[in-house]
Order: sequence, then structure tokens, then C-alpha cells
Amino acid sequence: MDCKNLPKIELHAHINGCLRRSTLHEFLQEDNKEYQIPAVIGIKEAFEIFSWVHSVMTTKARLQRVVEEILEDFENQNCLYIELRTTPKSTKFMSKQEYLSTIVSVFTSNSRKIKAKLLISINRSQSLEEAWENLHLAQTCEKCVGLDFSGNPMANKFNYYVEVFNEARKSGLKITVHTAEIEDEEDTVDILNFRPDRIGHCNYLSERCENLVKDLRIPMEICPSSNMATIGLGSMVDHHFGKFYGFDHPIAICTDDTLLFDTDISKEYELVANAYSLGDEDLKKIVKNSAEMAFSDEALEGLS
Ligand code: 5GP
Repeated sequence: MDCKNLPKIELHAHINGCLRRSTLHEFLQEDNKEYQIPAVIGIKEAFEIFSWVHSVMTTKARLQRVVEEILEDFENQNCLYIELRTTPKSTKFMSKQEYLSTIVSVFTSNSRKIKAKLLISINRSQSLEEAWENLHLAQTCEKCVGLDFSGNPMANKFNYYVEVFNEARKSGLKITVHTAEIEDEEDTVDILNFRPDRIGHCNYLSERCENLVKDLRIPMEICPSSNMATIGLGSMVDHHFGKFYGFDHPIAICTDDTLLFDTDISKEYELVANAYSLGDEDLKKIVKNSAEMAFSDEALEGLS
């Protein structure tokens, strides 16, 4: 099945995970750094790649180019609306505020059909002080519609930051949380009891957590290639998508990191369509669900 022509919505994509390979190589060369992306990617390799990417994403010009290219790439796959997420960074050449205003200026000057919104990530390795700083940046950032919680799942637990997320919710920001990327039932139960607006991945849900997700109907972002790499699945047929799709659970199909998994949003839809024998109408329904799960009404407006 070819899903390129299907109008789509992307809800889970990290800016520094979605650079073009060619752009990364160009930046590495310019900085005299030698690195080849490994062929097989698990969690360890993923975080190694991110540290290389971060080491070259130092200037406003590079960030601007990367965000422009991401919008172009997703639009070329007939994606009408995208929520891009990122952890604000300060470098020798820009403050966190400038990092965000560079992204916002690309979104604002974007004359493309694709509409873009921003989610600000709190990284599990950040201090509580940095998490509060991210919240304050999110509250004043024009294109930001929510917070994401991501980073190394072995680092801090969700509850360490719960007050930041409570405050975010009070101020009207939506919240999505990387959930159950490793087997950690306690952390997952805390996340689910907080009732985020969306949860990402859900690779290692215990039976108790699976039931909680179903009962609470928390919308789920599925990233097929990324999830298969993390869990070590040979086929999408064995993915937890099947369990939840059967219950008519709200699910969005997303890319996560196009650079790492050498993918695009059409390929991710194709993986699911082929594994579960989905037809056009089924796929359109998933896209509609995704638009309803989006943190801005612009997603649904784009589809109609
Ligand atoms: P950035 O926030 O720098 O734009 O995007 C890269 C960052 O996103 C990584 O350093 C990591 O913190 C986070 N990230 C990307 N993909 C994943 C993932 O699959 N799981 C988790 N937990 N974090 C991720």
C-alpha cells in the first residue's frame, strides 16, 4: 500500500531527531567531526546519535535550516499539520529564548500548506529548576501548545516533575508523556494517574497499565519503526497497536525520529496498513483520530 497521497497529521516528532542525514553529514564535515550513523539502532545508539546531533546544532542558521527542511520533508509526504517537539538549548551562539524564537520565526514565515505547532520538552535528565524554566518558556512562546516529557527513561521519574506539569495544566498547556519505554510499572502508573492529554510509545505496559490506558481512554501516539527498534520486534504484526486498535482506542501514527529510523510519515502508515490489512477508509479514520488528538484546532481545520 502506498500512503503518500493520504493527507496526514504528525503529532510525535523531535526536531533534533528529524534532520536530513545529508544535512547532519554536512554539519559534521564543516566542524571536522567524523561520525557514521550505525545501521542497527536501539536505545543506546539513539542517545549516542542525539549527542552528535546536539554537538553540531549550535547556531541559529543551522537550526533555521533544519526546521525549514523538516517542514518541507513532511509537506512532501502530504502531511497537513505537524506538532514538533524540542528541548530548548542554549549554546555559545544562542540563548534558550533565541533557540525558540528561531523555530517560531520559521513557523510564522512558513508559506507552506503545512501548519506547525511547537511542544516544549522537559528531559528526564534535566534538573527541576530547568524544568520550571522550560515551563516558563512554554507559557510565553507564541507557537507552543503543550509540554512533552522525554529523554533517557532510566533517568528521573515523572513524579519528580509533577508540580511543573500540574502548573502547566493550570495555565492551559496540553501535556504528552513518553510512557513505558522500559519496564517500570511504578513510573507508568504515576504517569497514567496524572491523565496526560496523550501518551507516547507505551512499549512495555503491564496488564494493569494496559487496562488503565483503556479505561481512561488516554490517546496514544504510536511510532512503529521506533517502537519496533526499542522492543526488538521483527514485525509490526506483534506490535501493541493491534490490541488497542481492536478496542477503537484513539491512536495516532507518528515518526518519532526520521533521521534515526530512516523513515517518513508515509512509511510509518504503510507499516501499519500492511501488517493489519487496513484499507483507505481505515487509514482516513486514523488520520481523523489524530487530528482530534492534536493540541490545536488547526489540525482538524486542515483536514476539512
Ligand atoms: P530535541 O529535543 O533535541 O529536539 O530532540 C532530541 C531529543 O528528543 C533527544 O535528546 C531525546 O531526549 C528525545 N527523544 C527523541 N526520541 C526519543 C525517544 O524515542 N524516547 C525518548 N525518551 N526520548 C526521545
